[in-house]
Amino acid sequence: MNLTNIGTVREILGRHGFNFSKGLGQNFIINPDICPKIAENGNARSGYGILEIGTGIGVLTKELAMRADKVSAVEIDKRLMPVLAETLADFNNIKIYNEDVMKANLHKIINEDFNGLKTAVCANLPYYITSPVIMLLLESCLPIESITVMVQKEAAQRLCAEVGTRESGAITVGVNYYGTVRHLFNVSRGSFMPSPNVDSAVIRIDIDKKYNLNTEQEKFFFKIVKSGFSQRRKTLANALSSLMGIEKEKTYYVLKSIDASESVRIESLTMEQLVALAIKIM
Ligand code: SAM
Repeated sequence: MNLTNIGTVREILGRHGFNFSKGLGQNFIINPDICPKIAENGNARSGYGILEIGTGIGVLTKELAMRADKVSAVEIDKRLMPVLAETLADFNNIKIYNEDVMKANLHKIINEDFNGLKTAVCANLPYYITSPVIMLLLESCLPIESITVMVQKEAAQRLCAEVGTRESGAITVGVNYYGTVRHLFNVSRGSFMPSPNVDSAVIRIDIDKKYNLNTEQEKFFFKIVKSGFSQRRKTLANALSSLMGIEKEKTYYVLKSIDASESVRIESLTMEQLVALAIKIM
C-alpha cells in the first residue's frame, strides 16, 4: 500500500470517514522522499527501537519499521486506530499506543518494548506542541540517543540557533543543555496533505549531556533561563529581580565574574556563561 499516493490516502481515509483535525496538527506526509530520509537520518536501523510520536496514517511508521527492530508509536486520535490496523497490517514489529504523548508513560513503553535495544525518537511533530514535546523528551531522562523530528521552519531556526544570539530562545538553551542539535533538511509545504501555510524542516538532537549540574542546580538553571527569556527585552538583572526576587547587586556581581556587563540581556549569554551564572547565583 503506497501511503504517499494521494489517491490511495484519500480512498482509505474516505472509507473510514476520517476528516483532518487542524487542532491536532494533522498534516500527513505525501512526498515519497521525506520519510525514508527521516528514518535513515534518525537511527532507524538494526539494533534500535524507535519511538514515534503521532503516526497519522502510518507513512513514517512504515519506513521506520522497515529499518529498525521495533517501533512503538503514540497517537492521540482514536479515529486513526482502524486506519492503522489496515495500513500497517503487514508489520509485526509495530506497537501503537492510543494516548496523548504528554501523558503517556514513555519510560514504561521504552523499557518494556525495547528491552536490550538502543532507542531513538523519530517524528513529524504536531506543530502545536513542538517545544513541550521536545522538552518533555529531554527532561524525562529517557534512555534515548537521538531525537529526529520535523518541525515548522521557524521553530527549526529557533532550535538550531546559536545560544548567545538574538535568534535563540529558552528552547534553544534547553536543547543545547541536553544535547547537540543540527538542521538536516528543509521540507516544502507542498509535501503534506493538507498543505500547511508554512514550510518545515527536519532537525536532529544527539543527546550528550555535557553540563554536570546536580538536580537542584539544574532546576535553578532552568528557572533562570525561563525567567530571563520570558522578559528578554529587559536586562537580565531586572528580569531576575522582578520574577525571582534576586537582588540586582547580586546579579551584577555574578555577571562581572563571568565577563558580562551589568546591562546584559539573557539572549547575549553563551551556554557556558549561563551555566556558570546559575551555579554562582544559587
Ligand atoms: N507521522 C504522520 C505523517 O508524517 O504523516 C502524521 C504527522 S501529523 C503532523 C501529527 C500527528 O500527531 C497526527 O496524527 C496527530 O493526530 C498526532 N498528535 C497530535 N497531538 C498528539 C498528542 N498530544 N499525542 C500523540 N499524538 C498526537
